[in-house]
Amino acid sequence: MTYDDSNVFAKILRGEIPCNKVYEDDQVLAFYDIQPQTKVHVLVIPKGAYVSFADFSQQAPEAEIAGFFRTAGKIAKDLGLDDDGYRILANTGHHGHQEVPHFHLHLFGGQPLGRMIRPPQG
Ligand code: AMP
Repeated sequence: MTYDDSNVFAKILRGEIPCNKVYEDDQVLAFYDIQPQTKVHVLVIPKGAYVSFADFSQQAPEAEIAGFFRTAGKIAKDLGLDDDGYRILANTGHHGHQEVPHFHLHLFGGQPLGRMIRPPQG
């Protein structure tokens, strides 16, 4: 998997375009989705150059993977989502309808989210 560093999240990481930041450390950045689909809609990304969840899960060192998910959980907790619950989602590749080719977790919450996947229309 070849990482294309012209993607929008790479530009955010380089500070070339702004984001509405929720959290940052040396490995992870989290920011509000520009087109929120729920009351709380945050994107959590590793700072490393990983194309997708497939790339991240196969290539990242275990400590980086563990740290990333630990941090994502902490971000959800700090956003006050633990009590009522939330959803994490990683669109991956073509069938997953991934639009930005830098691995990201969507963190949805702040409201009831309904069923996991809408049945196909028609
Ligand atoms: P995906 O389909 O999983 O790749 O989702 C990409 C997400 O990135 C979408 O929900 C977009 O609304 C979001 N997005 C795209 N550009 C930006 C941006 N500049 N700042 C914040 N979120 C963005």
